[in-house]
Amino acid sequence: MPLQFDNSYAQLPDRFYTRLSPVPVSSPGPIRVNRELAQLLGIDADWLASATGTRVVAGNELPEGAEPIATVYAGHQFGSWNPRLGDGRAILLGEVIAGDGERYDIQLKGSGITPYSRNGDGRAPLGPVLREYIVSEAMAALGIPTSRSLAAVTTGEQVYREQPLAGAILARVAKSHIRVGTLQYFASVGDVDGIRLLVDHVIERHYPEAADADTPVLAMYENIIRSQAELIAHWQSIGFIHGVMNTDNMLLSGETIDYGPCAFMDRYDSAMVFSSIDHGGRYAYRNQPAIAHWNLAALGNSLLPLLDPDQEKATEIAQNALNQFPDLFFEAFFTRMRAKLGLITAEESDTELVQEWLDLLERNGADFTLAFRRLAELPAARKDIAVLFDFDDGYTDWLDKWRARCARESPSDAERGARMLATNPALIPRNHLVEAAIEAGYAGDFEPFHRLADRLAHPFDFGAGDIDFARPPRAEEVVQQTFCGT
Ligand code: AMP
Ligand code: MG
Repeated sequence: MPLQFDNSYAQLPDRFYTRLSPVPVSSPGPIRVNRELAQLLGIDADWLASATGTRVVAGNELPEGAEPIATVYAGHQFGSWNPRLGDGRAILLGEVIAGDGERYDIQLKGSGITPYSRNGDGRAPLGPVLREYIVSEAMAALGIPTSRSLAAVTTGEQVYREQPLAGAILARVAKSHIRVGTLQYFASVGDVDGIRLLVDHVIERHYPEAADADTPVLAMYENIIRSQAELIAHWQSIGFIHGVMNTDNMLLSGETIDYGPCAFMDRYDSAMVFSSIDHGGRYAYRNQPAIAHWNLAALGNSLLPLLDPDQEKATEIAQNALNQFPDLFFEAFFTRMRAKLGLITAEESDTELVQEWLDLLERNGADFTLAFRRLAELPAARKDIAVLFDFDDGYTDWLDKWRARCARESPSDAERGARMLATNPALIPRNHLVEAAIEAGYAGDFEPFHRLADRLAHPFDFGAGDIDFARPPRAEEVVQQTFCGT
């Protein structure tokens, strides 16, 4: 059997989902198979790349043991409540237990209409599938918890947006697809049993240690708060802008999901927004921590019936947990930033040192990724720093401070440099490269896509020939806006 399914979500009562199969497509064609991920999941990569595997990813054939479902959820989209969303263009085939002992969902995205499609066609154009593949895998290579991309196929059909576009399907893998919005759905319909069943499921699956706590529901909530603080700190540390941090796009597992209009910053601009639909800048780079906090408040609201029978007491319990978020984020963020500056110990004044560095980058319009990378090259190479940065006068003062701070720690320059190079990536999925790969893909040429995906698997290495992957966009290449393209 090519896939060893062990499905748990499909054992929950049927009000959690609708059982249905993917809608077959006319002419499935392979794009890419993630061999390393297939191996982790115990899936034969050759089978996955075969005509049969391609048909399975396309939804034309169901593998044995699959129990296909579309799950129901709700959510706040750009702050507005939507009482019923659900998998409108995705089908969960089932779960497998991987070589690392973890349980993973295997989901098809773009697999046709479901009862939750509303006015949508249930399909995905090729461009967003390629973007999600590239960016999610780049995030994984950067060490960031994320959904993964197992395979992508073309459908041979057209998808109609502003214009007809080639259709594609992505096989997505995640530790689960349970969202803040999933709990919100059951809370909003007053289904306390449903909340309880889902919470038990989440604890067993993602936070088993919470089961032993005095108050498991609260312990789970605190764990989710902590994992989101870590996740957003990680995003901020590499300049990742999610773009649609709706509550239905936040997973309880703490993994990044929904690579719609996401983008990495080139030039450091803390107010940066890429998404064409984010008119108010709600999901700007610098707002991401506050939005996560907001989403976690919505989660807390959904948990109230389980936290205490007394509504007021329940609210107080949730509020106390939620109030920890700013400090947890602050701690997680500065821990990452310290490491990026090559520091191992913590001093109180480090936050100032970090902030001054970021201000320097912002004032001088520096490329976020390369500025850190070049700083990482300083300790070992002892290059003439004036050559490395074309910054204002504040730079030499800052550098003196940084060097003095480094001197208060024991590691040698060489050691510090090596550590910084392993912490500050040389390569990120640059928007102009992603766009070029997508454009070529639409023209039937997947080589730029493969090259980019291959190269981004090793973001901390920089060798001869990598300059075009690493360099910032030229003025005419800069991508100003990204589109959901759903
Ligand atoms: P997203 O913006 O990708 O988070 O999607 C928000 C909601 O719209 C989810 O319930 C999706 O399943 C649904 N949706 C997005 N695109 C489509 C589509 N093309 N067809 C049907 N449903 C969709
Ligand atoms: Mg979504």
